[in-house]
Amino acid sequence: MDCPNCNFWLKRKIENYHYIECGLENVWIENCKMFVCLNCKGQAAVLPDANLASELIAETLIQQCFKLNYEEVRFLRKSMRLREDELALLLRVKPTDIFSWENKITEIDSLDDLRLRLLIIDIIKNPLFKKIELKLKLADIFGNCDYRKSRPNPIPKIILKPVPTHFNFRIEVAKPT
Ligand SMILES: [Zn+2]
Repeated sequence: MDCPNCNFWLKRKIENYHYIECGLENVWIENCKMFVCLNCKGQAAVLPDANLASELIAETLIQQCFKLNYEEVRFLRKSMRLREDELALLLRVKPTDIFSWENKITEIDSLDDLRLRLLIIDIIKNPLFKKIELKLKLADIFGNCDYRKSRPNPIPKIILKPVPTHFNFRIEVAKPT
């Protein structure tokens, strides 16, 4: 294949890829297939199916022991394919609340954080979602004071790892350093 910019030969390579396309800052794809132009330095990554990836990431986010931030709230809403007003209706809050959470004006409060996570579990259709286990996990996090309002800094990386032969990914959260 040739580079669409300069028609030079594209070289294939494999490297860890910062997956900002998903809308979060801390997600990486391990051993991502890439095409790179040695002439103009343009590059393209072979990304996972965006729906599949967003469900995997959502499943990871709802199990974190600290409060969701603005971009995670937005990410989770989009992973359910809901508009702001639709999510507001389901959470019984005002649409302006959703707007404030997603635009860093106010933080989501702990109870709405829990309700948003429970909603994700109910709405996402992925059969790999172990709904009962996830709800029990949430009951643990929120019930046993494991839930922390402050976020670790830096926030642990979420890593998508390709599973060879399945054209699929498994996910791993890096240990905080
Ligand atoms: Zn090029």
